[in-house]
Amino acid sequence: MQELLDRKKGLHRKILIVDDEFIEREMLGNMLDSFYEVVYAEDGEEALEIIKKEKSKFSLIILDLHMPKLDGYGLLEILHSNAELRRIPVIVLTSEKEAEVKSLKLGASDFITKPYEVPEVIQARVMHSIELAERSVIIHETERDELTGLFHREFFFEYGRMLDEQNENAPMDAVVIDVNRFHIINELYGREFGDSVLKTLGESIHRFVNKNGGLACRSESNCFYVYIPHQDNLCEFLPTQMEKLGKLFEEPKVTIRVGAYSDDGSNADMEHRFDCARLACARISKSYESSWGFYSAKLHDMELHSEHLIHDMDKALSEKQFKVFYQPKYNIEGDKPRLCSAEALIRWFHPEYGMISPGEFISLFEEKGLIHKLDRYVWNEAAHQVKEWKEKYNVTVPVSVNVSRVDVFNPLLGDMLDGIIKDSGINHEDLLLEITESAYTDNSQQIIDTVTALRDRGFKIEMDDFGSGYSSLNMLTSLPIDALKLDMKFIRNICVNEKDSALVEIMIRISDLLEVPIIAEGVETKEQAELLKGIGCEIIQGYYFSKPVPGEEFEKFIEA
Ligand code: C2E
Ligand code: CA
Ligand code: CA
Repeated sequence: MQELLDRKKGLHRKILIVDDEFIEREMLGNMLDSFYEVVYAEDGEEALEIIKKEKSKFSLIILDLHMPKLDGYGLLEILHSNAELRRIPVIVLTSEKEAEVKSLKLGASDFITKPYEVPEVIQARVMHSIELAERSVIIHETERDELTGLFHREFFFEYGRMLDEQNENAPMDAVVIDVNRFHIINELYGREFGDSVLKTLGESIHRFVNKNGGLACRSESNCFYVYIPHQDNLCEFLPTQMEKLGKLFEEPKVTIRVGAYSDDGSNADMEHRFDCARLACARISKSYESSWGFYSAKLHDMELHSEHLIHDMDKALSEKQFKVFYQPKYNIEGDKPRLCSAEALIRWFHPEYGMISPGEFISLFEEKGLIHKLDRYVWNEAAHQVKEWKEKYNVTVPVSVNVSRVDVFNPLLGDMLDGIIKDSGINHEDLLLEITESAYTDNSQQIIDTVTALRDRGFKIEMDDFGSGYSSLNMLTSLPIDALKLDMKFIRNICVNEKDSALVEIMIRISDLLEVPIIAEGVETKEQAELLKGIGCEIIQGYYFSKPVPGEEFEKFIEA
């Protein structure tokens, strides 16, 4: 009964017998056709045609070596070089010892010697080869990512650790490869294209580790890890490899970031190496070119420094180590510049590190989800400052505060700002809100909703760093904004570079079109100020008038 069941099960499997001699084909066929579905081919060429048509449906190929047209070796070579066909096990028919070695080297899984042994032996060998191959397919499928054929993360680390144990002193480098803005690629060109990017990248990485040794995996959706034997010249080697990868996707352009940890003999474990490589990768900005970076002692120190800042933040808030500075904005439309508002910019007076500028901690706090605490502190201070000046000088100097891209996701943002307005006793339009342009392009719908709701409450919104965030004209006209703040980089060379001044003119025309004022920041010289005035810019902020200063010092501008 069991035997019958086995036979039935076997019949779902298909075997291809390739031999130019009719008698041989028949003999083998007779031994196997009550267990398997048997298909025949007379030479390598015919076999290849059948295989290609039926793809990987064959459980086994039995192959004669000497045949006309395409012989057994030739076919073996073809099968072995194809990733899909390589999985079909091949038993070679032979009578010479040398041929056995050669065919095993070409990927044959077993051989049957002519003249044939008793049918039971041949049946057992066939069964054995099929079972081995099927088992390895199952293992392959669970260990590997279906899309790219690279290992899954867990298996990657498991095999990597085994590799390290076996070669105790062999140095290994860790490389992390990340596709820039992958979600945008998916959105713009479709999932299918996204998948094809990952697949192409995966294949290229596969070839790389096949050639250089090592292991690779797809770690998260768009991130690859490569663990390779140490290369002395990794910093030359990596850019050339990357250039190759970059060339794979020219139209539409897809760029990658590569972070690497080069073995320094410190015997760090595999996980640690990849933590470092990932950090190096994360520190590379998502530019529109492929780029790479190494983990270094400097990066390590920076990381420690960041840890300290995060650790110290709460204490610093309660001890008022953060001070809000104010930089004046002047309206330059009339004969004489007229103070019209100020921007609140935070400074940290750290007991150990001295004064720290926001460039060092804002994005860190954003990353760690801490920015809302600091921003609320600044908004509150700024609102109370407005009130204080109002009472002291009987004038209103509106202050603009920076609203982090992360704050935009806080559902309580509006209530919180309203609370600050009420508490300080100022008006909504006295606390201007600056939101960077790239926040608009990254999350257009969310930000439109948030900003619309804030405007409904009476707040005025300024788009910060305008010109750096790739907004389309079409998008701009539908955005709820009350002012545009030109990105500083356009001002820097405005007097020396005609292209820059032309760009600024265009942006001023856009602000006219949107019927909102334009503010130029980072204005440092008289020439810049005059040029801007000449082309119709209304408001100026920058060192030309003043650096950001403490509130007390700012009072001289009000008094003037
Ligand atoms: P931002 O909002 O674009 O601010 C303008 C930056 O340009 C400020 O740098 C300011 O000091 C600087 N600046 C002003 N005039 C000139 C000039 O003429 N020449 C040059 N070279 N620079 C000038 P700062 O204060 O270091 O702030 C850097 C960034 O940190 C700000 O860029 C803003 O994005 C962020 N930031 C500052 N304070 C806060 C805050 O309270 N909350 C949040 N979320 N971000 C803040
Ligand atoms: Ca700003
Ligand atoms: Ca800005």
